[in-house]
Amino acid sequence: MDLSRRQFVKGSAVAMASAAAVGTLASLTGCDTQGGGGGVGGGGGDAVTTTAVCRYCGVGCGVLVTAVNGTITEVIGDASNESSRGAQCVKGMHLAQLLYADGRLTKPLIRDSSATKGSDDGLREAEWEEALDLVAGKLKDAWKADKSRIAFWASGQMPICEGYVLSKFWKGGLLSNNIDPNARLCMASAVVAFMNVFQTDEPANCYDDLDEADVFVTWGANMYEAHPVLYSRLEARKNNGPGVKHYDITTLTTQTSKSADKVLIMAPGSDNAIACAIAKYLIDNNAVDQEFIAAHLVFKQGTENLGNNFDDTYDGSDIGKIVGDVQVISFDDYAARLEPYTLEHASEISGVPVADIEELAKTFADPNTKVFSLWTMGVNQHNRGVWMNHNIYNIHLLTGKYAKPGCGAFSLTGQPTACGTAREVGTFAHRLPADLVVNNGQHRRFTEAVWDLPTGYLDDTPGPDGTPVPGTGIATAGKHTIRIFQDMSKGNIDFLWSACNNWAQSLPNLTRFLGKGDQKGIFDTFIVVNECYPTLSTKYADVVFPIAMWVEREGAFGNAERRTTIFEKAVDPPGDAKWDMWTYLQIARRVLDGEQIDGQDAFDLLFGFIWDREADDFIGDDREVCKAVWDEYRIFTNPTMKKAADDINNDVEEKFGTTAEDGTYTPSKLKMFAKQMAPYEAYLDSHGLTWPVREVNGQWLSTKWRFSDGPQAEGYDEEGIKMYGKDGKAGYGGISFYKSAGLKPSVVFRPYEPPAYMPDAQYPFWFVTGRLLEQWHTGSNTGRIPELNNTLPDSFLYMNAKDFDGMGLKEGDEVKVTSHYGTVTLMATKQERVICPPGVCFGTFFEEDRLINLAVEEIYDPISKEPDYKKTTVKIEKA
Ligand code: SF4
Repeated sequence: MDLSRRQFVKGSAVAMASAAAVGTLASLTGCDTQGGGGGVGGGGGDAVTTTAVCRYCGVGCGVLVTAVNGTITEVIGDASNESSRGAQCVKGMHLAQLLYADGRLTKPLIRDSSATKGSDDGLREAEWEEALDLVAGKLKDAWKADKSRIAFWASGQMPICEGYVLSKFWKGGLLSNNIDPNARLCMASAVVAFMNVFQTDEPANCYDDLDEADVFVTWGANMYEAHPVLYSRLEARKNNGPGVKHYDITTLTTQTSKSADKVLIMAPGSDNAIACAIAKYLIDNNAVDQEFIAAHLVFKQGTENLGNNFDDTYDGSDIGKIVGDVQVISFDDYAARLEPYTLEHASEISGVPVADIEELAKTFADPNTKVFSLWTMGVNQHNRGVWMNHNIYNIHLLTGKYAKPGCGAFSLTGQPTACGTAREVGTFAHRLPADLVVNNGQHRRFTEAVWDLPTGYLDDTPGPDGTPVPGTGIATAGKHTIRIFQDMSKGNIDFLWSACNNWAQSLPNLTRFLGKGDQKGIFDTFIVVNECYPTLSTKYADVVFPIAMWVEREGAFGNAERRTTIFEKAVDPPGDAKWDMWTYLQIARRVLDGEQIDGQDAFDLLFGFIWDREADDFIGDDREVCKAVWDEYRIFTNPTMKKAADDINNDVEEKFGTTAEDGTYTPSKLKMFAKQMAPYEAYLDSHGLTWPVREVNGQWLSTKWRFSDGPQAEGYDEEGIKMYGKDGKAGYGGISFYKSAGLKPSVVFRPYEPPAYMPDAQYPFWFVTGRLLEQWHTGSNTGRIPELNNTLPDSFLYMNAKDFDGMGLKEGDEVKVTSHYGTVTLMATKQERVICPPGVCFGTFFEEDRLINLAVEEIYDPISKEPDYKKTTVKIEKA
């Protein structure tokens, strides 16, 4: 390691320079010293440098944080973090300021009358005891009355240990699956496809492939703006590697397109047709990898003609119940299903010239070309997003271009720990930690074993007829995000709590979900919001808990390449702001008061290992708490740490396997080591490790290319393959998909089906939404940093120049954008930061006063339930 983890820099010169920086920072942000380092520091002037990871996007750049007298004075890139190698984008360069902007919440707030919701008025300051008692009382009443009417909206910005504790409270303590993360809005389609194809949720490749590929294909990903540090790496490879090319498949010309070698502008939603045409081309031209197919793949097809959720009954409809069904077919059947997808047919649907699709197909067809596909929200936020994820894997798997250096299909993430928390520790409505799911009995038994719960505790309890009643335990998936807010809008949720997100700005169809019109739902629901600054969500809260942000507590994030990185606590939170995890446990202690599990106090059983009853506080400091939580979470990925868990992992009692007609029993083994995590200390001693992390000769080593055999020390998956795969020892370079059923990932035929709405006479434009470099998500942090906000202060409607001129618009004119769902007024522009084709417009969601999600449709992917933020049809009128 190049830099000691906690470097105390003593010396008058450094201290003076740092002290000068405090003044500079304070004057820039207008904060006072109380706002920054409340109660910390004093005397000495020592500079303390700690390691951390950026709090914004899923790239997960490592940073070094220097604090003087309890105030952060500098944040620079961490060259020892392998995900970013010292690089940061403009957001990362201004990380320090996000703690010190005006308006930081430092006291609990209580709203005494729900009539004031939606405004800045009506919240009063309170002490923690009053706020905690109020929230706990409301939650307990709602839980006891009907637990289907409580919900928690969690986040891909919630550190791993916090997410684990919250999930344990909600699922193990309250026996409720009504918890779902905001990652439902960005990653759910990728998650479902990973599980469908590989039976494991995360990629096989890593960021190093950006240095190795011969050809990059971006599918619905504006990496220049949304994943800038990775895009720099892609461009560096292009600049340094002779002949390296980049194809950009997109619905509009972005900054990413401008530096690509070939841009394929497609009609919104037509990507599945293009991908099917490429797959057909590969088969028709004998350009598939026959050996790879025979050794590794199984072919399937699934339910088709899915329709769309035009009303709230979709999930329970005949088609809604079977959207995820699949059947095995032969390779020939798969090829036959692709028959309609000629290059010409795909061109007709997409508008992309035949020659361009063919050129891309030929690239995949070349066995000597290493192709690396990258995608993000353009693929995931799609009414057939799961299918499009499948289709990208299909192309890569058919050609054997997967899980090898420079060859792979990589789903980028938008949030810093969508992988680490939302996915790894089970904050989805259908998940438990480490890829386990609630509706699998063996998975529930394993979870009970780790959590010391009695066998069967998590099951649904039988009703009078002996049939388990859904929702009584957690054997049935809870409400997904859109269902939570649909139910709230109808007055069917009594208690909603959110943390690390800003739902009132980021959900689609806010016209409905903010209770415009009938004032139902959101005004009746008791709403709790954990926040650091006022947001639109706090305007609708009954109670606001002021929260420590970023390095005001210790935590860990898991980024898109599966790298887990600890960020150390660098400074104290201001005023009375507290750690999110502290609020979960304070509420859990109150709500579970008097509850017993198997004759033991429920709270003590679940959380006694980190909570001191007498002190009514954590058992130690942040590090001790995080380590204790990590040690327990780690059992999920190291089952031998606990015999009861390991017995279920290995099905030693022969309860979960299958018995053949001849009586031979085949046990069901969970392969929990497949996501193996290292001890907490190993992360403290490093600058991030990518899982599975394997212990070899006393050292904990990352895996970069999962399922690919080769030396573990070089990042290959040698230990995993030894444990679960086909032994590739004799031939490094082999692949064994050891998590997949039968060791074979699935190629699933997924056709083109049209968007829910197509432009028509009433709504003639496509409205595509996304983000741009300087502002991140709802702007609740970046909007407070002058260097960022002054660069991109306004959320424009970007229009095609001809459409713009045809309407007689001038730069900055206000226009009304109206969809089937609602209306938003925006300033129009034909600036070329985003160049829209005719009939397409683009908007960003960072501005609270220009709330584009009032108009964005509520249509979601029927399988993943992820909303389609990319294809709302609208009309545009001068305001
Ligand atoms: Fe890196 Fe993303 Fe942070 Fe920029 S916003 S510094 S790319 S993690």
